Amino acid sequence: MLTPSSYIAGHFIGPGKAAQAIESPVTGDAIARAGSDNIDFGASIDWATATGGPALRAMNIHDRARMVKALALMLDARKEELYAINPLTGATRKDGWIDIEGGIMTALTMASKARREMPDGPVHLDGGVERLSRSGTFLGRHIAVPLRGVAVQINAFNFPVWGMLEKLAPALLAGMPVIVKPATQTSYLTEAAFRMMVESGLLPEGAVQLVVGRTGDLLDRLGPQDVVSFTGSAATALTLRSNPRILASGTRFIAEQDSLNAAVLGPDALPGTPEFDLFVKEAAAEMTVKSGQKCTAIRRMIVPQARADAVIGALSERLSRLRIGDPADPETRMGTLVSAAQKAEVAARAAEIAAEAKCVFRHDGVPDGPAFAAPELYLCRDPDAAHAVHGTEAFGPIATILPCRDIAHAAVLANRGGGSLVSSLFTHDPAVARAYVTEAAAWHGRIYVNDRDCAAEATGHGSPLPHMIHGGPGRAGGGEELGGVRGILHYMARSAVQGSPAIVSAITGELAPGDAGNAAPAHPFRRSFDALVIGETILTAPRAITLDDIEHFAKFTGDTFYAHMDDEAARANPFFPGRVAHGYLILSFAAGLFVDPEPGPVLANTGLNGLRFLKPVSPGDTIRVQLSVRRKTRRTDQYGEVAWAATVLNQAEEPVAEYELLTMVARSA
Ligand code: NAP
Repeated sequence: MLTPSSYIAGHFIGPGKAAQAIESPVTGDAIARAGSDNIDFGASIDWATATGGPALRAMNIHDRARMVKALALMLDARKEELYAINPLTGATRKDGWIDIEGGIMTALTMASKARREMPDGPVHLDGGVERLSRSGTFLGRHIAVPLRGVAVQINAFNFPVWGMLEKLAPALLAGMPVIVKPATQTSYLTEAAFRMMVESGLLPEGAVQLVVGRTGDLLDRLGPQDVVSFTGSAATALTLRSNPRILASGTRFIAEQDSLNAAVLGPDALPGTPEFDLFVKEAAAEMTVKSGQKCTAIRRMIVPQARADAVIGALSERLSRLRIGDPADPETRMGTLVSAAQKAEVAARAAEIAAEAKCVFRHDGVPDGPAFAAPELYLCRDPDAAHAVHGTEAFGPIATILPCRDIAHAAVLANRGGGSLVSSLFTHDPAVARAYVTEAAAWHGRIYVNDRDCAAEATGHGSPLPHMIHGGPGRAGGGEELGGVRGILHYMARSAVQGSPAIVSAITGELAPGDAGNAAPAHPFRRSFDALVIGETILTAPRAITLDDIEHFAKFTGDTFYAHMDDEAARANPFFPGRVAHGYLILSFAAGLFVDPEPGPVLANTGLNGLRFLKPVSPGDTIRVQLSVRRKTRRTDQYGEVAWAATVLNQAEEPVAEYELLTMVARSA
């Protein structure tokens, strides 16, 4: 008997007196007891905000990213312990792979994106510097800082590990402590992964807590700095988001709820084409992976009228080969629903669909057991007149075929779902893809287009990816998660900071335009990454540019563009006063001016951002370079990236070129 515990204010608390028995969906035997009638939610919030929040905010964003990566790698090393429990939920090993390794990969990717796309400091920078005054002494910049409260993350039963990690990782990366509340039915698997995280010692005190069972008065205690991130049914979302305290405080409420996702077969995808076969393959998989208990599963299949019979035939044939059985048996392709109650719920919803659609396939190889369910395919001949097929989610292996007249009609039908997490389209015709996406994108959080060119690497209709947003409008909850850094920002507050260049530099940790910085104490190429200070600046010696230089460069590189070679032709060009130096010649001479040649801490030049040539350089002009440390980002214990602000000036002190130079620099000399 499993007894998943809550973890509150640093202590595991076992199931209380009111704990409920959880029965096996395979055998009906009791497998666990879970519940929380003995939790002090006031103490829980205090521990998160007084201990966890400050500890997380004492780390900078990249430190937190390293912590989340270490957590994910630790879980990966212990994943077989989670796979051992997974079949108890009714899920096969493949289902568990999506949940367990999918969750770990999501956390790893979010951590990696945080390190690549967010600053190595306490403050996130959202967009560039805004010049708010004529002479540049008053600037603005949007920053994001961690919210000061706690993130309460309430998850659905179907992904006990992924559901926790896909929310926990962004919140920890943002610097916000979390209270995780898994669905009770599968809480023992969430608890196993959660316990590993606590045991690892990788997290600071107060960063995470777990509620197994009811949330008591937790939501009644939330305020304006807290976030609720909910995944589950639309009915529960409505109840929770209507909490008077949440409404009065303006507590952020992110909802991921049910969704009548639609897959569309393009008019060009005739039987025999790769796109037709891909449609059938993915539609069958989406109906049966996790026994159809996926928020992103295909519930509606929109196919050209003339293709309906072919789709029914091909899908029925494929589904009839599916082996349904004990999820612990490696030969099994589809296990059970999560519980007997869920089976009854799915049957009730299927009956509503059956009032508008005819059952055209039902799997006849379903074993006896409390929660085994048969894949069922329905055909709705008049989808324009129907309501239930567009509005009833049977959270199991059930889908309905809806015939359409053309791609515009397909979009109208897909949009009748009232807002979905994902819609897919199987077409090899770019015009079809464009027509569908422009009509449908406003109603679907993600649109997945599959064809012969990308099929081998496409990630699947049903897979939310950490890089891409997950969520959808309307019926799907109106929330959004993941999407790289976007998902982290749900747990941060954005603020518009205004001030002088030096003040903006100090707040953002990045040299602002117009901030003259300070003279470097030595040539910056002789200083280690750790020693370099933001704003450290050198001004190089001057160098004159001659006609010989230009001719030599032109012959050497082969760039004999007329503006460098032909005075008369150059004068006829509105941009040039006559022959001018190549932009790349200026860049090359600039490097020759600021580089310090001997081996030292600078290891490599890795790139250049935002290059602009601002003014022509004519033979006889003199240039020099101002080089300042703009931004520093630790990459490893050995080296970090330094972004230098480089400005090439002419003899009149006018900028002729500007760019950001990237170098890798050793951490210590
Ligand atoms: P649910 O019954 O709405 O429960 C979701 C979560 O809310 C569970 O943790 C549940 O805890 C909790 N909860 C229920 N009532 C509550 C209350 N009064 N106060 C606090 N917490 C409460 O949904 P489910 O049956 O677990 O999941 C299936 C549904 O989730 C489907 O409709 C599916 O489409 C949707 N879903 C959506 C997504 C998405 O990303 N959009 C992902 C997965 C699933 P208990 O278990 O303790 O009741």
